[in-house]
This record gives sequence, C-alpha cells and structure tokens, in this order.
Amino acid sequence: MTELFDYYRPSLAVRGIERRFPARRVFCVGWNYLDHIKEMDRKRVPQPPVFMKPADALLPDGGEIPFPAQTRNLHHEVELVVALQGGGLNIPAEEALGHVYGYGVGIDLTRRDLQEKARKGGEPWETSKSFDYSAPVSTLRRASGTGHPAKGRIWLAVNGEVRQEADLEDMIRKPAELIAQISLFFELKPGDVIFTGTPAGVGPVKPGDHVTAGVERVGDVHIKVGRPRS
Ligand code: MN
Repeated sequence: MTELFDYYRPSLAVRGIERRFPARRVFCVGWNYLDHIKEMDRKRVPQPPVFMKPADALLPDGGEIPFPAQTRNLHHEVELVVALQGGGLNIPAEEALGHVYGYGVGIDLTRRDLQEKARKGGEPWETSKSFDYSAPVSTLRRASGTGHPAKGRIWLAVNGEVRQEADLEDMIRKPAELIAQISLFFELKPGDVIFTGTPAGVGPVKPGDHVTAGVERVGDVHIKVGRPRS
C-alpha cells in the first residue's frame, strides 16, 4: 500500500529553485495562429476550442516517449505554456497576467490520424490528444524574474531540422485573453497549466527522432521518441 499512497504527483521543474511547480490540470487551446489554421484547412473561429490533457501526461525536459499505440501519424505542435499561481472564475483579461507564475515551452503531441477520425465522426478528442506522455514541457521560467513574453521566436526542430518557426506576436489570442476565456468555463486554480496553441509546420515524428523546441527568453525542451511499448 505504501506505493499506492506515494503515487506520482505531476510537477514541473522551475529554473533557479529546488522546489517543483505542482501541476494541477493541463488546458489546451486550438487554432491560435492564422498560418496553422490555414495549413489545416480550417476557418477562424470566434472562440478557440478548449480541451484538456491529464496532468500526468506532462513529461520533463530530456524525457523519452514510447511511440504511442494505435497511431500511424504522431504529430508535434510547439506551444508557449503558461503556468498559473492564482485563478478564479470570470477573470478579466486585464487582471489575468497577475495570476501567471511562469512560462515554459511545451509540445502538444497529437495522434493526427485519430483526431481527423474523431473530427469527422463528431467524437471526443481524448484518444488523439490526451494520451500518456503527450505533454512534454520545459523547465519553467518565473514571470517575476523575466516578465511576460509578448514577442519572441517560437520554434521546433526534428533531428536538427527546423519544422516550425513563428513569433509569439502571431498569436491570435494572447495568454491574458486565453486565461479570461477558459475562466468563463472553469474555475482556474494555482497549478493549472495552459498550452496556448501552435504555429504552422506541424508534422510527423517517428521512433528514433530527437525533437527540440524553444521559445526565445523562455527556454527549450528536448525529447526523444522511443520505440512502441509492447
Ligand atoms: Mn495544440
């Protein structure tokens, strides 16, 4: 029973301090960069879709993900990640950044084939988005030290080749607006983490690939894609 009660608590490393950020929930938004909406042949929507991943899908920098089962098209999506120290319901956008603890770089791993199938069938996204190891995130950087990044290069490379490259300025909705929007539906709490959407250039990864992603002045995250687990 000791093992059961000592179960794994999801957390993220924080630059410059020993203690870890206690991750509570992982919210993700879609369609937040125009060039990605175009490459996916979608239209701009008044409110971006919000979905969730379980907090234990978080994978620290340097981790290896086993290639997930039931997919032939595992995609990378680099995203700025916002980590909250406060929260509430109906947070005004003007007050939202006061609830931000820090920022990181995340990879929203996606079983694209299952997502397409779910979309066509009007089915939920869990199997395409919310699987084990689907949320690698870099060490967090505290906003108290470095401020709130409004612009800066966001990029992702597979085996050293750059596949995604954009600027945070290209985000349709800024982190403050996303926090405000999500808080209309969920009472946000300290420990909640938000993936803020991906720019164009999403594409497949395969076993043996090394994926590195970064955001200027925030940090970077490196993962290896391993073999499928049998
Ligand atoms: Mn995404």
